Amino acid sequence: MPAIYVHIPFCKQKCAYCDFNSYPGLDAAHGAYIDALVSEISAEAARFNRASTNTIYIGGGTPTLLAPEQIGRVLNVIKENFTVVSDAEISIEANPETITHEKLAALRDAGINRLSMGFQSLDDELLELLGRKHTAAQAVDAFRVARGAGFENISIDLIFGIPGQSLANWALTLEQAIALDPEHLSCYGLTIESGTALERAIDESAVSRPDEDLQADMLLYTMDSLYESGYEHYEISNYAKPGFACKHNLTYWDGGDYLGFGAGAHSKAGRARYSNVAEPAKYIESAGSDARIAESVEQSVADEMSEAMFLGLRKMDGVNPEEFHARFDQAIDSVFGEAIEDLVGVGLLVRNTNLRLTPKGILLGNEVFSRFV
Ligand code: SF4
Repeated sequence: MPAIYVHIPFCKQKCAYCDFNSYPGLDAAHGAYIDALVSEISAEAARFNRASTNTIYIGGGTPTLLAPEQIGRVLNVIKENFTVVSDAEISIEANPETITHEKLAALRDAGINRLSMGFQSLDDELLELLGRKHTAAQAVDAFRVARGAGFENISIDLIFGIPGQSLANWALTLEQAIALDPEHLSCYGLTIESGTALERAIDESAVSRPDEDLQADMLLYTMDSLYESGYEHYEISNYAKPGFACKHNLTYWDGGDYLGFGAGAHSKAGRARYSNVAEPAKYIESAGSDARIAESVEQSVADEMSEAMFLGLRKMDGVNPEEFHARFDQAIDSVFGEAIEDLVGVGLLVRNTNLRLTPKGILLGNEVFSRFV
């Protein structure tokens, strides 16, 4: 059952830290882009023989910049061409400054049942440093508007380790977010991506580089605080009330298939991986044909096994050796025994029924994952 992802690459502005496939100033292209999505989805559906799906995720970019009717049209073409199960999780990413009661009520009517709200911070100075277009008060209002519009499954995205942010500041942001009682929180340590405005500001010494030790303290604080507030830590950066883990993202970490529609979207079908051209204008020109494919590869079994490890270990449940054996017909220790022994030896992994990250392993996740690549 593939997950379906739809990419909307439009934003009001480019945030200072962002290296996603997103573009400001393309309002005039919205209509043509929706037409292109409709033709790509219709063309792909024929290949996938009306496959069933239990999760649709509309991400970006800022999908809530579009009119609800445009989102509704995309959802309708998915429903016409795939079998969307009755309790499917249907998410959309939403930025606070783009939200109104009318828009969210229309999105609910169109079938969206989960909102992922990009707060990033609840401190106005840090929001400005990040180049966000909303204030903390707007974010809190937007959350209340979403509840008022009937959303019962809301996730809040937050970033910690922002230059100049103290542990006390992060603790306050987290406390304010928890007070809203969201079903899900994603908390990411800030990474400085190359080519971003934030990287340039750091290179020019206009902004200080995030402190890695402080970021580690913030992550440990986040884990404790959200645990005490009743959230399950189910993936390195993700926390959910029981029953509200994101089905869509779990498909990725569990190695499931996914179909990505839109500019720059990635797909996986068995061992095949392919991705669309990233630029919206090129995508619009080519969406209905294979000319939209920018890259296509067939993974080897070794690649699949590596991926199963570094994606599976992102989950706090870790990797189950029996499931690994059943999937690849090889014992996990015959493939990765040396790396596993080393990582258990230095306290980054622990072996019970499953192989999992320790708290130290969570802090040093990239070091763990690099051993399986
Ligand atoms: S709103 Fe999101 S996708 Fe758009 S520029 Fe900001 S971080 Fe990037």
